[in-house]
Order: sequence, then structure tokens, then C-alpha cells
Amino acid sequence: MARVFNFSAGPAALPQPVLEQAQQELLDWQGSGTSIMEMSHRGKEFIGIAQQAETDLRELMAIPQNYKVLFLQGGASTQFAMVPLNLCAPGNAGNADYAFTGHWSKKAVAEAKRYCDVNVAVDTQENKFTNIPVQADWNMGDAAAYVHYTPNETIAGVEFGWIPETGDKPLVADMSSSILSRPIDVSKYGIIYAGAQKNIGPAGLTIVIIREDLIGHAGPQVPAMLNYKTFADSDSMYNTPPTYSWYMAGLVFQWLKKSGGLDAMGKVNHRKAEKLYNAIDNSGGFYRNPVAIDCRSIMNVPFILKDDALDKVFLEESKKAGLVQLKGHRSVGGMRASIYNAMPEAGIDALVDFMKQFQTQKG
Ligand SMILES: *Cc1c(COP(=O)(O)O)cnc(C)c1O
Repeated sequence: MARVFNFSAGPAALPQPVLEQAQQELLDWQGSGTSIMEMSHRGKEFIGIAQQAETDLRELMAIPQNYKVLFLQGGASTQFAMVPLNLCAPGNAGNADYAFTGHWSKKAVAEAKRYCDVNVAVDTQENKFTNIPVQADWNMGDAAAYVHYTPNETIAGVEFGWIPETGDKPLVADMSSSILSRPIDVSKYGIIYAGAQKNIGPAGLTIVIIREDLIGHAGPQVPAMLNYKTFADSDSMYNTPPTYSWYMAGLVFQWLKKSGGLDAMGKVNHRKAEKLYNAIDNSGGFYRNPVAIDCRSIMNVPFILKDDALDKVFLEESKKAGLVQLKGHRSVGGMRASIYNAMPEAGIDALVDFMKQFQTQKG
């Protein structure tokens, strides 16, 4: 068996020690004689797993006591609707501010428009999502119920290096591709949400971290399954949760703690990204990253080859070298290396070596 370096944007690579532990526990979880997948979510074994995962996540992210952590389904895409349905209800101001800085915020805006008046405070589509204007250039609405942004746009590889200032308005963040990549100050946010399949665990789980005062404002027409209160009141066990993904996320949290927590992760992630951007920038134009330097993502690194006729052979040869899933998103072209927590630094070194070698042959 040979594991490759997997640069997939999502579902993404998982830490090998986590997969090994899951394999070891697959048939018989800690002497229970059954797999996690076969257990009642209301039994004491699974409740223990679920609570430990929440405790570990709270510790890793230093989540304050007045926030709930919800373990949901439906992906980040369901949050695009759930946020306005819960925060823009009748009685709340019926409008919201959105930063439109990439493909995922575009989808968030489109969905929010079905439920409330959206004020697009900043829009970088014209620049193909390659920059993030300073906040002084945003046009915030007066009475917005919340401000939504996407700290890391996974497709264009564009990442905020700062947190928008929103005064009394709760800040809502789609952190699907940047959660756990480094320490953040949770208290600056009203809601943080993330699909698990990039930096948390397998697909099927969505994490929501929500300030308690933002729970309980959904209108009566909102389905129970789309109401934060339903899950806050039931420890995320209103219905059957995605038990196996929840367990796997818990193993990832333990792996992160053993690896030194988010401080240590942040340092490694910055070093990994710097190595890769240096290789791109020092290639004399053979490779190019189109994003403004002050907002380059440390998680998703797109790079375009000098001649797109070389894309196919780059992908074939990198695959032979054990470097897979490097094809860029069709809207950007070229390559994209997603380098989440589970990508070891050795994977970056191998990619950089391959890129140099490829350039020597074809440059
Ligand atoms: C992947 C991704 C999504 C979509 O997540 P799903 O869980 O597939 O709905 C949304 N936002 C961002 C920033 C993403 O990276």
C-alpha cells in the first residue's frame, strides 16, 4: 500500500494517524463489540464520544462559554439558508450585509436573497476575486441584522488577513476551508460555520459555533431542521446525527491537540504556504499565482502554468510522482494545491521539488 500526497480541495486528506486509529477501531470500538456506525446515538458510548469531541473543539478554539457548538448536517450550503432564516426573521431587521469575494460568497448571497434583502457591501467579481478591498471602501447597510463574509475563498485562493469590524451587528463567517488552520478570536463572531470535509473530518458533518443570544429568533414557518434552537436544545441530537463523521472529527481534534494545538498548526501552515508561494514567485513566470500578495490563502494555492498546453502533462507526471488532485477549478484554470492541516510539510517539499524538475524539463 502506498499513500500519496493528496492536494484535494475537499473532501480532503485526513491525518494518517487518525485513519489508522479508525481502522483499528472499526470492527470493535473499545471492547464494545460493535462499530461506531452500528451504535445508538443515544447510548452512553456515543454520547461520550460526542461530548469529548465538543470538549476538545472548545479547548482547541478557546470557544467562550456563551457560545453553543452544534453538530449538524447539510453542509455549509445549508447554512447559506439557515443563517438568514434564523437571523432575518420578522421582527429582526429584514436585511443583511454580505461581502462578495468569491464563488462561495456568491452562493451565500444568492441563497440569502430568497429570505432577506441583501446589501452587497463589497464585490470583487470584476477582479476575478483576486483582491480584498480594505473595509473603508465597503458600503455597509444601516440596519443589517448581520454581516456575512467568507474568510477563505477556497476556489480563487483568497483569504482575509483581518476581521471585519461590524460594531453591534453580529459577524457571520463561512470558515469551511480555514477553520482550525490557526488560532482565531471566536468572541469577534456571532456565528462561525464550516462543512467538515476540508479541515475537520469526513463529509456529512457541519459545525456551527453560535453565540447564544442569536438562537431562538427564527420565524414560525422555519422548519425544525433549519432552526438553530432545535439543535441547541437537544445537544444536536434532535434526530440521528452523522455519528461516524462526528467520531472522526473527534479523532482529528485529538490529533490536533497532540500536534500542539492551533498555535503550532498555524506556524506549520504559514511555513508550508510560504514555501509554495516562494517556489511560484521564484519561477521566473513559469508558474504564476494571480492573487494580490496581501490576501493569498494559506490553505488553497492556485497556480497557473506559463502555457496551459502543459497542464495535462503536469497533471499526468505529478500523479506518477505521487502528487494527486492538483487540477485547478475550471473557473481559474491551471493547478490548485489545497494544503490543509493534514498535508504534511513533506508533501509541500515533494511538490516544490516536482515543480522545479518539471520546469527544468519543459521551461
Ligand atoms: C466547500 C465549501 C463550501 C461548500 O460546502 P458544502 O459542505 O459542500 O456545502 C462552502 N463554503 C466554502 C468556503 C467552502 O470551501
